[in-house]
Amino acid sequence: MSMPGKIIKVAGPLVVAENMSGSRMFDVVHVSDKKLMGEIIELDKDLAFIQVYEETGGIGVGEPVYLSGEPLTVELGPGVIQSIYDGIQRPLDEIYRKTGNFISRGVTAAALNRERKWKFKPAVKKGDMVSGGDFLGFVNETEIIKHYIMVPHGISGKVSLIKEGEFKVTDTIAVIKVGSGDKKINMIQRWPVRKPRPYQNKMSPDMPLFTGQRVIDMFFPIAKGGTACVPGPFGSGKTVIQHQLAKWIDAEIIVYIGCGERGNEMTDVLMEFPELIDPKSGVPLMKRTVLIANTSNMPVAAREASVYTGVTIAEYFRDMGYSVALMADSTSRWAEAMREISGRLEEMPGEEGYPAYLGARIASFYERAGMVKCLSSSDERSGALSIIGAVSPPGGDLSDPVVQATLRVVKVFWSLEAKLAYSRHFPAISWLNSYSLYIDGIKDFVTKNVHEDYFELQAEAMKILEKESELEEIVRLVGVDALSAPDRLILFVARMLREDFLHQVAYHETDTYSSIEKQYKMINTILYFYDQAANYLRLNADIGAIEKMKVRDEIARMKDIKKEDISKIDKIKKVIDKEFSSIIEE
Ligand code: ADP
Repeated sequence: MSMPGKIIKVAGPLVVAENMSGSRMFDVVHVSDKKLMGEIIELDKDLAFIQVYEETGGIGVGEPVYLSGEPLTVELGPGVIQSIYDGIQRPLDEIYRKTGNFISRGVTAAALNRERKWKFKPAVKKGDMVSGGDFLGFVNETEIIKHYIMVPHGISGKVSLIKEGEFKVTDTIAVIKVGSGDKKINMIQRWPVRKPRPYQNKMSPDMPLFTGQRVIDMFFPIAKGGTACVPGPFGSGKTVIQHQLAKWIDAEIIVYIGCGERGNEMTDVLMEFPELIDPKSGVPLMKRTVLIANTSNMPVAAREASVYTGVTIAEYFRDMGYSVALMADSTSRWAEAMREISGRLEEMPGEEGYPAYLGARIASFYERAGMVKCLSSSDERSGALSIIGAVSPPGGDLSDPVVQATLRVVKVFWSLEAKLAYSRHFPAISWLNSYSLYIDGIKDFVTKNVHEDYFELQAEAMKILEKESELEEIVRLVGVDALSAPDRLILFVARMLREDFLHQVAYHETDTYSSIEKQYKMINTILYFYDQAANYLRLNADIGAIEKMKVRDEIARMKDIKKEDISKIDKIKKVIDKEFSSIIEE
């Protein structure tokens, strides 16, 4: 090892050291003999500015800084799934076991268990030609996830040895003959977190990523490989939404980054998540989940790293051909970490004190999402990484720089509103302010596979809701009786749409998830009611009588209809017909 550098200044999570020539930007260093991990974030001749991932209290000028010569990397391999890591991929349970509740500084623990054995099944044979991304074989990482062992990027050649049996992650499972000699392959890959993992090409996101949440799937859908942003004030339901998505989104792997929320909220995530059951397979959700958690006693710089650690792990599973969904709650805490470090570096501040590169950093994070053709010489697999970030602007203010920078890059905006949460309308996603730019892309798939008039119904429902908001103003001024019968019908149906369709309680046994078929049938029924009512109004039916129709109760109960009974929803149309004919007779 080369001569260590020497600390000349300590400012919170930032340490400045001299005698650092020979180091590179983003290299990992170990600070003082306590070996605190840090990363070089700026170099000026032989001075290095280091962001330190652990508390720097008690560290002083003159202490050594050791170079590692390597960037911040993650370990990828069997054992990642079900793990709960901190921002620099230290397994929290292992760390707790070593040090107790208060993580002492300088503790290290391997991200992947070195003792555990995995049953490896080869997918290639001796003599096969392979290159980066090809599957060498797989292990059953959990009951529901096959973990493929891929040829590391940059290696290609002939398989000269391939094993089968039980191995530790560090055991050699294959040997590949490359130009210069033999390359031993084990089940661990390392990857620098700040560098996106490669793929063949990005494809346009044209498949929907259904979530079972009606306001999202019907009005503001996200595509596989897409990006979405959920900003909202405190208490508006950001965390509940992220949990609902983790449970129900149509993805095979979930990476959840709890990014430095207040300590107690993070504890909730740590306690709750392992208890959640995956509704599709019936096994614990953790069997397909990786959790990255910054506990409150970790310094800000670790939050900065956690976002990269998470997205790199997510890309790795995407490369196996999985559909991966990454949730980050909340990216505001990540941005605040950037702001703090930037302040310590005395950089020129931008808006609200955030660094000028805030937008660029946020963009490069979301750009790692996508539907891609994976690197592979032997198959045509594709994988998807979808990224959903919660943003918690102070006071819910959408002009906040983090919200604005995020909205510039993401294609879906789910706007959580305090007013809706306050009136207990959940999910509190505004139907007037939210948007999705994926609708054109997924149109083909949805009209072919769900229903051909899906988007027509969506547009019709949206028109009714927009009309309602226009009429509300008039009602406030002159009262509902002053409205024409067709306008009163609009209000009546808009309310049905809100209460019987958009409103969806996360804790309701049946309604917590709504299949896309069920969603279609529900909205179809409400709009059928609307069309029939509009017809009968033209025949001079009384709007007062329509508003009192009993079928409204049946419409309201559609939510409770279980998966196996959804054909019952179709029958409601007959009840609607019958009741309208009797109104007309009267
Ligand atoms: P935030 O993370 O934005 O501060 P939470 O996600 O903790 O807010 O939500 C606050 C409260 O709102 C929850 O405790 C819950 O009572 C209620 N809530 C939010 N979303 C839903 C939902 N989809 N269904 C039912 N209740 C909800």
